[in-house]
Amino acid sequence: MSGSIPASLAIPASAPHDLLGLPASESDGPIAATVPNVLSDTITHYTAPAAPCDCSQNSIEAQAAKKSRLEDSQASLPAYSPAVSLHSITDECLSKIFALLHPKDLLQLSQATSYLCAFLWSRDRSAHVWKGVFATVDPIGRPNACPPDLPYPAYARLWYTQACQGCGCACDYTEWELRVRMCRECLEKEIVKFDDDSPPNVLEGITIHDIVRCRPSTYGAAYLKKNLEWVQRKLVSLAPESKTQFLNARREALVTGRTHARNVIKYDVVVQDRRREARKELLAIRKQSIHKKLYSLGYANELAEMNESDFARHPSVNKLEPLTEKGLDV
Ligand SMILES: [Zn+2]
Repeated sequence: MSGSIPASLAIPASAPHDLLGLPASESDGPIAATVPNVLSDTITHYTAPAAPCDCSQNSIEAQAAKKSRLEDSQASLPAYSPAVSLHSITDECLSKIFALLHPKDLLQLSQATSYLCAFLWSRDRSAHVWKGVFATVDPIGRPNACPPDLPYPAYARLWYTQACQGCGCACDYTEWELRVRMCRECLEKEIVKFDDDSPPNVLEGITIHDIVRCRPSTYGAAYLKKNLEWVQRKLVSLAPESKTQFLNARREALVTGRTHARNVIKYDVVVQDRRREARKELLAIRKQSIHKKLYSLGYANELAEMNESDFARHPSVNKLEPLTEKGLDV
């Protein structure tokens, strides 16, 4: 299959946002998310392998027999039409199955077929499933609730994908304030930095903060070029009476988004602390176990002579792996 995305797998027009969590038109261009390695929605019917060729019987009878064998083998297969079978599963049934999965799996499924894409991108149809699976992954402390202006698959992408949304390289960094997962190089290309003491005015009395997501000055105030372009295009297309309504809704969504981003960042700090503590504990247990084992094997004198920090730094001791019984025996 070629690397291009079949038209049938494009994000449905009904999906209000793209994978970046931006409205569809905001996602055009180099940072538009793609759906890699998708599967075709239409899987061809299975064709049984032909019976071994009998070159010696190159006759009409032989060909007829071969055709008959092929037809028999196909007849014995169940009628299988993935499109029909998948579509015939009710939303309720799909929800029950998907509720057992990890958000990462749901994200993959949302890229598998156009039908699943439509189901998993629709808040009406699947928000309850996403909500449930997010809550089971890390129920304590994590701001699992997806902001209302962000589709759940886009939210899962920010948490779980390991690739840059710009160039596709390995990337484990999410810029929560801007809602993108990008490597430093791509991010630099996509953002516009500004002085937060005098933020640029987009319209009279409306600053950049009122209209697009901005990174706070602590990390260097910036916004995504694409976001501003989308808002500008939108404003041009709206009737004057709708503009105020749009701007108010936009402002409200940005406030909610900022609060959410801050909560995620706070949570991330807690997680990093938790990981550091766990690593420390693991190393301490490993060190203690090795020390005890060497002592029991009669190396007490050597241990006493050995500098403690040298012992702790030894490659076999300073290893982030739990020590097994087998490891101790070696
Ligand atoms: Zn990149």
